[in-house]
Amino acid sequence: MKIHRKKEVIREAKHRIENLFEQADLIFKDNKKLANRYVSLARKIGMKLNLRLPSRLQKRFCKHCYSFLVPGINCRIRTRENKVVYYCLECKKYMRFPFIKEKKLKRNL
Ligand SMILES: [Zn+2]
Repeated sequence: MKIHRKKEVIREAKHRIENLFEQADLIFKDNKKLANRYVSLARKIGMKLNLRLPSRLQKRFCKHCYSFLVPGINCRIRTRENKVVYYCLECKKYMRFPFIKEKKLKRNL
């Protein structure tokens, strides 16, 4: 595969991943199963090309059961120390994300 072709494939894949998450968001209320299917498709595309999902999207699904997460519906968000804790109501497990932006801000002060 030529380099510029690969870049194109990756750009296309990222676009498709973003799109799948958008669709999952829209369909979630009516069809949770389909939303979860979109997440699994997006993950498959990412894995195939070894892409890391942006942190914004990583927070939209549970890393344990891969359910699409909607805060206030099937996910609770709490902050603790320097971390944001996501509690998945589907499988009752936690995910922790560090506050990267906040830390950077403090360093600049
Ligand atoms: Zn879960």
